[in-house]
Amino acid sequence: MHYVSTRGGMAPIGFAEAVLMGLATDGGLLVPERIPRVSTETLQRWSSLRFQDLAFELMTLFVDGAVPAPDLRDLIERSYASFAHPEVTPVVDVAGLRILELFHGPTAAFKDVALQFLGNLFAYLLERDGGTLNICGATSGDTGSAAIYGVRGKPRISIFMLHPKGRVSPIQERQMTSVLDANVHNIAVRGSFDDAQRLVKELFNDLPFKSEFSLGAVNSINWARILAQMVYYVYAWGQVSGGDPEHGVSFSVPTGNFGDVFAGYLVKQMGVPINRLIIATNRNDILTRFVNTGVYALGEVYQTLSPAMDIQIASNFERYLYFLFDGQPERVRERLDALRRERRLEVDASDLARVRHDFDAVAVSDPETLAQIRQTEAVSGYILCPHTAVGVAAGGAREDVICLATAHPAKFNAAIWQAIGRDAPLPPPLQGLMDLPTRCLELEADAATLKAHMRDTLASV
Ligand SMILES: *Cc1c(COP(=O)(O)O)cnc(C)c1O
Repeated sequence: MHYVSTRGGMAPIGFAEAVLMGLATDGGLLVPERIPRVSTETLQRWSSLRFQDLAFELMTLFVDGAVPAPDLRDLIERSYASFAHPEVTPVVDVAGLRILELFHGPTAAFKDVALQFLGNLFAYLLERDGGTLNICGATSGDTGSAAIYGVRGKPRISIFMLHPKGRVSPIQERQMTSVLDANVHNIAVRGSFDDAQRLVKELFNDLPFKSEFSLGAVNSINWARILAQMVYYVYAWGQVSGGDPEHGVSFSVPTGNFGDVFAGYLVKQMGVPINRLIIATNRNDILTRFVNTGVYALGEVYQTLSPAMDIQIASNFERYLYFLFDGQPERVRERLDALRRERRLEVDASDLARVRHDFDAVAVSDPETLAQIRQTEAVSGYILCPHTAVGVAAGGAREDVICLATAHPAKFNAAIWQAIGRDAPLPPPLQGLMDLPTRCLELEADAATLKAHMRDTLASV
């Protein structure tokens, strides 16, 4: 399997190179050159596999020999050994509603499913092929801690994670700063999340610095993250259908950067019987407006109770455009140019019909989110995190739906308290967090200061 850029400006590359590259060299995103179809016999067999064995079989189709089979198996086993549930991502029944719990990893959010694997994969490839990697990123919440847990203690990798000082939730801050491994460097930036993100961009735009220090990213554009997320869609279908190829299911997916639901789209293209993929957004509804009108128009970003979805420009959307436009990069480039020029892009009626064939989309307000948390708790005692509640409110009424639960509710207890007047109990990984020692450096929002800090830190190891 080879990988190409959505913008067409790159010769095809193999899986290992695609993972280490992250963003394509022409600024596009890397996509598999074709999506393999799986037979109904294969699907039937897959439906009875344990999560790790299914992950191995599915990933093998995309890894295509770049990692020898025994090594891939070992990477997968190690990545999911850190999950607290024996099924890794179980489907639970909540008073007739099906919930796919994706939050049993070490940071209690769905990003662990991909980042536990990505961390191990990075370490494996660097060990095998040589080199080092200094991951640098900015976070307003879940990604930072999941990335840190993915690479803590790994040889040949360091991570510099920036967060806006005092502006991430106390639990999320502690999840990051209580990791004391020598290769983990937390930086509290005096400024906003946008300031932190701008700093990281400046670093990546300084090409000599980027190559001298082998800077890398773990954001949701990395192909391996999408790949790891495909597994639980197939797993959940298998659990619910028992492998019956006539038994289709739908998924309601709390959506921000479009990475999660895009993984579901690929699984559907592979032939897994998926009826509908429901894009559930909060007040930041650019994707919902797109599905309903064919116009993708940038607006402002609103703060909501589901902060991991407070995103205007969905970074994985470009990957979908590539497949919507039948793999014609010139059409992708043309629409992206329009987006840059006019802050909007539009697709024609026949393309819009295809979009609607692939997706439904629903925007859910904060009051509706709180009402959903309250209602589900009242009928079942089960507490939804606010992101999950957006998904349940958007798609829960459908008979065939499986709702993705993207975080443990205790990570968002301010919203839970608002909804039901009490906290969600802390799961084991979040217990005692506030008493742990921490390490974190505070810096001005200034690129030169940050670069000097990274130089000093990396020179001393
Ligand atoms: C990241 C995240 C999302 C959004 O996922 P995307 O892949 O960005 O669409 C939803 N819920 C939670 C809790 C998250 O951390």
